[in-house]
Amino acid sequence: MTYQFKHPTWPGVSEPVEGADLRVLSLGAGVQSTTLALMAAHGEIGPMPDAAIFADTGWEPEDVYEHLAWLGSGNVLPFPIYRVQAVDLRSQVQGRAEGVEGRFVSIPYFLDHGGMNRRQCTREAKIDPIRREVRRLLGVAKGARATGFSVEQWIGISTDETERMKDARESWITHRWPLIEARMSRGDCLAWCRRHGYPEPPKSACIGCPFRNNARWLDMTRNDPAAFQDAVALDAAMRRNGPANGMRGLEYMHRSCRPLGEIDFEIESGGADFLDECDGVCGT
Ligand code: SF4
Repeated sequence: MTYQFKHPTWPGVSEPVEGADLRVLSLGAGVQSTTLALMAAHGEIGPMPDAAIFADTGWEPEDVYEHLAWLGSGNVLPFPIYRVQAVDLRSQVQGRAEGVEGRFVSIPYFLDHGGMNRRQCTREAKIDPIRREVRRLLGVAKGARATGFSVEQWIGISTDETERMKDARESWITHRWPLIEARMSRGDCLAWCRRHGYPEPPKSACIGCPFRNNARWLDMTRNDPAAFQDAVALDAAMRRNGPANGMRGLEYMHRSCRPLGEIDFEIESGGADFLDECDGVCGT
C-alpha cells in the first residue's frame, strides 16, 4: 500500500493500538529508529514501548554495532533491546561465492544480463526474526497461532520516505509510524538528536547492500574505508568463479554492473537512494 503525504491530512493512518498486548520498536540503530527510541524515552511519543528489537544481519558497519551498544547500555533507554540474528548475510555471500553447497539467502544484486536477483534478505534477516521474537515475548508456543494477540510495532519511517510504509502481513500485528504522526523528516530526526545533545546516529544498512546509492557509497569510502574494502572484496568474489549456482549471469553490488573497486564515486551522479526500494525495516 502506498501513502501520499503531500498535505498534512492523514488522521487515523497511524495511531496507538488501544489495549495492545505488546508494543515493540523495530530498531535498526540508524537515524530514524534511534530518534524514535530516544523520543519515547523523553516521553515525546507514547505509549512507552515494552521493548525494542534489533535484527542483526551480521553485516552492519561497525559504528552501527557501537551505537547499538550505547543505546542498550542501560541508562539511555527505559526499555530493553532484544538482539536477534537468524542469518549472517556476509557469510552467506562469501559461501555462495566460494561454491559452498547449501541454500543461501538471496540478496538482490544486479545481474549483467539485466534485472536483479530475488530479494529474500529483508524477510529472512529482519522481518521474520523480529516476528519470531515478538511471538517469544508474547509467550506463544512454537507452531501455535498468535491470532488472539494484538501487537503494535513501531517502524522508523520519516515523512521523506512514505512509500516504504507497508502494513504487517500478520493480522495480529499493527504497524505504527510515529515519525509520520509527528510530521518528522530524516533531517528533523537529526536536528532532534542534536538539540538534545545526542550523537548523530550512524547510517544503518548491510555493508554490501545493493540499494545503497552513490552518495552513500562515497560516504563509506571516506568514513569507513575498512567496510568499503570488505564490500569491494565480496563484490569481486561473487564473480571469481563465474555465475553462481542457478544464475545465468554475473552479479554486481553496484547498479552500473561494474566492479565496485573500479568506480569513482566522486564523479558518479545521483541515483535513487536505496531507501526508495527497500522494505521499511532496512536502513532505519
Ligand atoms: S540492508 Fe539491504 S542487503 Fe541488508 S537485509 Fe536490507 S535489503 Fe538486504
